[in-house]
Amino acid sequence: MVKIIFVQPHPDDLELNCGHLMHYLSTKSNKNYVIKVASTTLGEYGLPGAQYDKFKGDFLAKVRLRELQNALSIHKIPAENITYLGYIDGLVPFNREMISKFANYLKKEQPDIIFGPEAIYTSYYHMDHVNTGKVLFYCIYHNLIGCRPILYYYQTLSPNFYFGFKEEDFHLIDQLLACHKTQFWLINRVKMMYKPKSRLAGFNLAGWKYAEKYRRVYFNSKNQNKNKPSLRVKIRSHWYSSMPWFQAKYPQDILKELNKKS
Ligand SMILES: [Zn+2]
Repeated sequence: MVKIIFVQPHPDDLELNCGHLMHYLSTKSNKNYVIKVASTTLGEYGLPGAQYDKFKGDFLAKVRLRELQNALSIHKIPAENITYLGYIDGLVPFNREMISKFANYLKKEQPDIIFGPEAIYTSYYHMDHVNTGKVLFYCIYHNLIGCRPILYYYQTLSPNFYFGFKEEDFHLIDQLLACHKTQFWLINRVKMMYKPKSRLAGFNLAGWKYAEKYRRVYFNSKNQNKNKPSLRVKIRSHWYSSMPWFQAKYPQDILKELNKKS
């Protein structure tokens, strides 16, 4: 048995980044995989505009958990395989409390492989994503979980592993995303980029037109040079992090500012 945990900051991140690989591992591969999903938050503030304020919080959390369960049922992953880590959407910290919470969870699960959001060379500078990626790295690097799972990052600018899929497989992603009805405002925008992005990744994988991309993180000191990004990745990474739309103020930054003033 091989245990694989897919970690996501918000419900819908896995569908947009790992849908094909998850589907293959959970339904098509003949190996004995146990697939679990951990969600740092329930995305309970993931609605734009003040007109939705009354739904945000506990109510939206319930709806989004159901949406996640529906999406995972397409992969035949049962609801009891989902763990919610209990953080507030938009306020995921990186601190000792979070490290010990993740370490306890992973210690209990003893996974062989973990997938999580890229923490360093990321194309998405949402602090919930960066901090979730960081905590996974920290727990493994500092041997906090009693095992050494293989760590892969999705949403990476520095991929070294690709999972290929065919044109006709796009309907799987449509089906998965259709489960996240509350997120259509965002998903419709992201979906436009999904095909070209997958096509670009597919150029790196012989025999496949489309692909999902991942970065395997190497912890062994012998393989450290495999973690080094190319100059192109460094430039893109810098470019992404300096773009004005990525410099949005996250709630924790605002809180920090407010605390300084008071
Ligand atoms: Zn997210």
